[in-house]
Amino acid sequence: MTGKENQYINEAFETNWVAPVGPNVDAFEEEFAKAVGVKAAVAVSSGTAAIHLALSLLDISKGDKVFCSTLTFVASANPVLYQGAEPVFIDSEPDSWNMSPAALKRAMQEAAIKEKLPKAVIVVNLYGQSSKMDEILKICDLYGVPIIEDAAESLGTTYKGKASGTLGRFGIYSFNGNKIITTSGGGMLVSDDVEAINQARFLASQARDPSPHYQHSVTGYNYRLSNLLAGVGRTQLQVLDDRVRTKRRLFDLYTHALSDIPGVNFMPELKDTRSNRWLTTLTVDETKTGVSVKQLLEAFQKENIEARHVWKPLHMQPLFRGASYYPHRENEHVAKQLFAEGICLPSGSGLTGEEQLRVIKCLRDALNRTISNRSYLILGKQEV
Ligand SMILES: *Cc1c(COP(=O)(O)O)cnc(C)c1O
Repeated sequence: MTGKENQYINEAFETNWVAPVGPNVDAFEEEFAKAVGVKAAVAVSSGTAAIHLALSLLDISKGDKVFCSTLTFVASANPVLYQGAEPVFIDSEPDSWNMSPAALKRAMQEAAIKEKLPKAVIVVNLYGQSSKMDEILKICDLYGVPIIEDAAESLGTTYKGKASGTLGRFGIYSFNGNKIITTSGGGMLVSDDVEAINQARFLASQARDPSPHYQHSVTGYNYRLSNLLAGVGRTQLQVLDDRVRTKRRLFDLYTHALSDIPGVNFMPELKDTRSNRWLTTLTVDETKTGVSVKQLLEAFQKENIEARHVWKPLHMQPLFRGASYYPHRENEHVAKQLFAEGICLPSGSGLTGEEQLRVIKCLRDALNRTISNRSYLILGKQEV
């Protein structure tokens, strides 16, 4: 929190707008749409709800197929199951860790031959890194399949000058407590299709028909964001650029202090993109370091430092057993490899230099690499 969130919350209390509707909701939607450069946005209770609404708008139902990045949080694909549709998982590629255009192309070609094209492709921009959107858009345009860009982790990221989350038919964002800005819980669905966003707002408010009594013709949801939380969101949006700068600085410090170790590789940044570096993530090649991810995570745990695996690919999850999956290349399973070798480091925007140094030291100790004087210098500390 910035400490200034109270302003809009107090306003909501004073005017008694304590409901999932009100001036903060309207203003948050407008300010957000302007910030990312889209025509319309609807504030909702979570990023998951935003994905669900996008699938509803695209009329996805039982028996339909939806392609989805495999290396992601389960929330990207759960709404596919809510609709009774079938997810098909697409592997990552090494440059972005995100959806492999090669795998997507193969999946589309096969689907076209079977005359069963997907009704949508959910492209996830992981840990703040944009996917190869030009390549992915080209493939999807060729087959006329709309894209839902899951930018839950990539708010503040740009791809060729455009805001991440604005390149597909729909974009979704999350304001969950762990995201780059937060409303404690919340999300946003955006699009240049104003009518579709109006329809989403209707569906998110129990699909109440215009009528003097309560009249309903289609299934709706209770997915609107509270006017109190929208107030938090308005303040948070004002510090987004600051947050991105902080996250990028944390990432730069980590890379400077650790990238001299053979076998340690940080998540790359695609050319012409600027990642928000939501989480600093790296891979550790055990054949070069002699230390496994498991051992590293144990070393962190001993020091009471919270480091984690990268997402376990969805095609490897028991929930999705039996789902179709397309690897990057026939014998190259990128997401699986990233899961085996990847670690997320503490990356909170409140992390102090002292704390970051502790993380760096712990990782270097575990890899039997004493901390270099360079790391101290970079962190502005006295050498030892
Ligand atoms: C957080 C997240 C979501 C879901 O957002 P919620 O607001 O938690 O529902 C979806 N996709 C990805 C990639 C996420 O990280």
